[in-house]
Amino acid sequence: MYCRECGKEIGSLKICPYCSADNRGKSRLTAGLLQILTGSLGLGRFYLGYNNIGTLQIVATIFSCGIAGTVWGFIDGVMILSGKVEKDADGNELLD
Ligand SMILES: [Zn+2]
Repeated sequence: MYCRECGKEIGSLKICPYCSADNRGKSRLTAGLLQILTGSLGLGRFYLGYNNIGTLQIVATIFSCGIAGTVWGFIDGVMILSGKVEKDADGNELLD
C-alpha cells in the first residue's frame, strides 16, 4: 500500500512513517448513508474520492429532474453498505 499523502510504499502501516499521514480507510457506514440520503448529489462517492462517479450522479440528477440520480444514489448506497464497494478511490479498504 502507498501513502495517500506522500506516495511512499508503507506496506500495511496505517500511519505513514515518512509524513505521519493517516492512511486508515474511510467508514463504509458513513459512505453508504451519505449515498443513500444524498446520492442525487453523489456525496457518498465524493467522500470516498470517486469524484468522476459523483459528478456523473449530479449530471444524471440534473438531466432526469432528480429521478435517475436519486435512484442511482440509493442503489449505490446499498451496494456500498452491502460490501460490493470494497475500497475507496485511493485503494484503501473501507472500514466496517
Ligand atoms: Zn506519507
